[in-house]
Amino acid sequence: MSTLNPQLQSIFDEVLRRNAGELEFHQAVREVFDSLGPVVEKHPEYLEASIIQRICEPERQIIFRVPWVDDSGTVQINRGFRVQFNSALGPYKGGLRFHPSVYLGIVKFLGFEQIFKNSLTGMPIGGAKGGSDFDPKGRSDAEVMRFCQSMMTELHRHIGEYTDVPAGDIGVGGRELGYLFGHYKRLTNKYESGVLTGKGITWGGSRVRKEATGYGTVFFVDEVLRSHGDSFDGKRVVVSGSGNVAIYAIEKVHDLGGTVVACSDSSGFVVDEDGIDLALLKEVKEDRRARLSEYAEARDVPLTSNGSIWDVPCDVALPCATENELSEQDAVSLVKNGVRIVAEGANMPTTPGGIKAFKEAGVLFAPGKAANAGGVATSALEMQQNASRDSWTAEHTEARLAEIMRDIHHSCAETAEEYGAPGDYVLGANIAGFTRVADAMLAMGVI
Ligand code: GLU
Repeated sequence: MSTLNPQLQSIFDEVLRRNAGELEFHQAVREVFDSLGPVVEKHPEYLEASIIQRICEPERQIIFRVPWVDDSGTVQINRGFRVQFNSALGPYKGGLRFHPSVYLGIVKFLGFEQIFKNSLTGMPIGGAKGGSDFDPKGRSDAEVMRFCQSMMTELHRHIGEYTDVPAGDIGVGGRELGYLFGHYKRLTNKYESGVLTGKGITWGGSRVRKEATGYGTVFFVDEVLRSHGDSFDGKRVVVSGSGNVAIYAIEKVHDLGGTVVACSDSSGFVVDEDGIDLALLKEVKEDRRARLSEYAEARDVPLTSNGSIWDVPCDVALPCATENELSEQDAVSLVKNGVRIVAEGANMPTTPGGIKAFKEAGVLFAPGKAANAGGVATSALEMQQNASRDSWTAEHTEARLAEIMRDIHHSCAETAEEYGAPGDYVLGANIAGFTRVADAMLAMGVI
């Protein structure tokens, strides 16, 4: 972490004081503040209008009880959240996460990141995030349905096509979005397709949305490689996770000629030197919702449960699991083994110490708010299709996604250059994302 200029430091101190105990939120704010020094020097009007203080304070935070009945007839109580962070650029937009670790600090870190990520896509979407500490693991479809219906019973008052448009995140995929949409439709008596994204293709979803976050991350890396006269051809790649982001990152790396040799889940990681067998991985993870040990058994490769996937040597590392999964020690190990590019498919997977280690070693590091923006960008394409009652082909949608990722890479690289730090994608992403939101807020007065 660098030293902040005195004005940014005092705003940061106030953020710590007002949001006590929300460690992930502090980390996400600090990462952005570390890039803003040269911006406020060049644009004192942002400080004069208290833009930065306002960006750090969500426009609205909703916390509610989610009661539901499990299969044995017992009443369960979870906590639901929706943090509507910033609507300067468009309706609030961001996913819902269902995971036992969810609390206000996680939702706020994700919502804060989403503001800048959504801004970088160039699409008209504000920033939000939500979720619950509900754990879908081991729950029957009927339990997940009752939980989603109860969640929507409260959430429906706060969302809408022009207000706030949730989508998926960890623990929320096609099944959950189906139950959520069905209940919203019933409560409102409206077929309001644009209220949620990530829907199924037959009921208002977009082609390529499911694949978009993973594909987009790989398209971003492809741009990084191209700008250095290189390509994925023959590259050895490690992808952490084996959820929606990881699976489609692996698919696109293989399409582009690289080989993904390792992936993981919460039980450990597998190394498959011939390249991850994607059809098998999809069957285990998407169809059976099973553990990676079933993949390891079927392929006769070892599952390592007490080690780090980041000790596996590679040219390109794509952390696609969850926040703070790649520590400083992991970064040092990757650097020692010759990694050249790291791109975050997950949100904030690299710790501040890890980012510093990559920077010092000259590794090209693409932060999540740029590298994983393809998911939400394709959500915005889904909103476009819903608004025009249209449905695009996979080819057209994927071409739009690729173009958006190229534009994001270009604006990060150009901004980094403009601020005298060529190749610093963290600085470029933070400044480019921030500036668009800040200028819109300035134009709209004190809101
Ligand atoms: N949860 C995803 C993200 O982190 C997607 C959000 C969306 O599509 O609205 O960007």
